[in-house]
Amino acid sequence: PRLIDDEEGGVLFYSTSPLSSSSSGYGFASVEKQRQRLPVYKYRTAILYLVETHATAIIVGETGSGKTTQIPQFLKEAGWAEGGRIIACTQPRRLAVQSVASRVAEEMGVKLGEEVGYTIRFEDVTNTDLTKIKFLTDGVLLREMMDDPLLSKYSVIMVDEAHERSLSTDILLGLLKKIQRRRPELRLIISSATIEAKKISSFFSPSKRRQALLTEDHGPNAEPAILSVEGRGFNVEIFYVEDPVPDYLQAAVSTVLSIHDQEAMGDILVFLTGQDDIDAAVQLLSEESRNGQNQGLIILPLYSGLPRAEQDLVFSPTPRGKRKVVVSTNIAETSLTLEGIVYVVDSGFSKQRFYNPITDIESLIVAPISKASARQRAGRAGRVRPGKCYRLYTEEYFLKEMSAEGIPEIQRSNLVSSVIQLKALGIDNILGFDWLASPSSEAMIRALEVLYSLGVLDSDAKLTSPDGFQVAEIPLDPMISKTILASNQYGCSEEVITIAALLSMQSIWISARGTEKELDEVKLRFAAAEGDHVTFLNVYKGFIQSNKSSKWCHKNFINYNAMKKALEVREQLRRIAQRLGIVLKSCEGDIQVVRKAIAAGFFANACRLEPYSYNGMYKTVRTSQEVYVHPSSVLFRVNPKWVIYNSLVSTDRQYMRNVISIDPSWLREAAPHFYQHQQPNPIAH
Ligand code: ADP
Ligand code: MG
Repeated sequence: PRLIDDEEGGVLFYSTSPLSSSSSGYGFASVEKQRQRLPVYKYRTAILYLVETHATAIIVGETGSGKTTQIPQFLKEAGWAEGGRIIACTQPRRLAVQSVASRVAEEMGVKLGEEVGYTIRFEDVTNTDLTKIKFLTDGVLLREMMDDPLLSKYSVIMVDEAHERSLSTDILLGLLKKIQRRRPELRLIISSATIEAKKISSFFSPSKRRQALLTEDHGPNAEPAILSVEGRGFNVEIFYVEDPVPDYLQAAVSTVLSIHDQEAMGDILVFLTGQDDIDAAVQLLSEESRNGQNQGLIILPLYSGLPRAEQDLVFSPTPRGKRKVVVSTNIAETSLTLEGIVYVVDSGFSKQRFYNPITDIESLIVAPISKASARQRAGRAGRVRPGKCYRLYTEEYFLKEMSAEGIPEIQRSNLVSSVIQLKALGIDNILGFDWLASPSSEAMIRALEVLYSLGVLDSDAKLTSPDGFQVAEIPLDPMISKTILASNQYGCSEEVITIAALLSMQSIWISARGTEKELDEVKLRFAAAEGDHVTFLNVYKGFIQSNKSSKWCHKNFINYNAMKKALEVREQLRRIAQRLGIVLKSCEGDIQVVRKAIAAGFFANACRLEPYSYNGMYKTVRTSQEVYVHPSSVLFRVNPKWVIYNSLVSTDRQYMRNVISIDPSWLREAAPHFYQHQQPNPIAH
């Protein structure tokens, strides 16, 4: 074992035997040469043959082997996009969709949005006449099925990153299996970085009876084919900390600094969990590198919601004599490949969605990753030459406590959105749906309950008309969609659509370590006594009055890019609303109706301040969970008696984000059956 850095404040590591792998060289080369050097290139003929002869091909290959960027190009070259057909490639992450599409357009020498395009929610960069290769999120492809249930314009659908087992990927796989029966000419490629292949293969395997029927005709082989693309990573030496670290953020920062101090040149990839800790680490590292000793560091964040220009920076080559440090979420684990990484610092955590059907609370939690993820992260260090991975956890922890694999997202999510989508696609028997992994029946029942109370489903669990179908049409969480429908009755659709657009941004505020106080002061300029939703309306008004000025945003700690994006989203939502027959109307400052509309959609998130509470403790009306107003809310410390929240985040406590005060009588008005059988009646005045 070798120790690096045992100075004051440093982190103590020791190494174990390296990960084994094969290898080959890599340097600068023309695009065509670069393509040919990718491992999948050698499998071009085999892949095309399998796609030709099998309905489903499962392709397993290490991250960076060229699956995502090359296979769609192979397919196009082989003629799969001729005759107006389109090759689709899905990704679980929006950022990956954009990044990969622009890379492929560049490799093909075409303008993004023409022959190669992409679609993510609220952003369609494709051309109906020209686009032949289309990258899209798995969620968007699911939505497309509402207009085109058999996805008839696609010749091949590549479901990429299947090992991630995102909620939408799982649902998509179930539906694609059904589509395949009706469209034998459709080809599926399922690609994955790890060995989920067996499970997926048996999922797509036709039953014996069906197999017998199929051999009668001359279609493709219905039995899925599996192809493993041989990896080409270099050895990665693994280091563990001797003792558990108390603060992974601090430990990550000091590990980066000691690598920079003691190790040969080569870029560093740091895995943290989300925008907050990434921004904090970037700031700490930038301060350090300004302090003289650590010059030569180029420090870059990577997370979804980052402006395009900043995203692209992580791919730009590191200048000679400099060292790039990319501080990323788990997006760099398998979705994106950065070329020059030699060192990986793994915090051992990622942000994960967790849902508890008993309390009906879904939250994003910083949680330990699985062994499979840890291996993927380490693998990122061996792209260009032998690398090193510093794990900020102990070897004992890795061996004894880390779970082997993650839990599929479908088993840790609120299912409200999924259920409504399946219903809209005519899948009535949801419990009997062909799931790759079954969700819990509690979660299912909760979802049905909420949808019933929203008036989206009737007592036979069928979509109601028109409400149910309309809610399903709007590409937002059903609670917000319902709020938009309700705003029609209350004559405040303009305001509610503005709020919906702003809520769909990650954050409209610019926050940085050390400026929290200024941000709080600035927020007061916009703060509305009613709560955050109305504060959003004030910000929006200010932005429009400033003539959409970036200077105004800067002065007010408002994220200009997020505001611009929100305007686009708002326009799209207005078009959808009009299509659904909603009258676009402003309530001209009568905020009470806006709050009533919100209550009509979000009654299930109502909370009451505990009587005699000294610390601002609320309890959720439905399940009596302890929750608190998030410090970023304008209602923090104001603590009105009754509130509704938009979402929960849990750190040390459950915090309500984006909170609005309400009158409890609106709840019973909005959802009489929902609150009827609560014992004891929580809406006693
Ligand atoms: P896989 O899907 O098998 O993980 P990819 O097709 O994503 O592999 O990556 C193949 C190669 O393309 C990698 O060497 C990667 O660095 C490069 N690449 C992918 N996206 C970009 C991009 N946006 N900019 C520059 N290089 C990229
Ligand atoms: Mg990929």
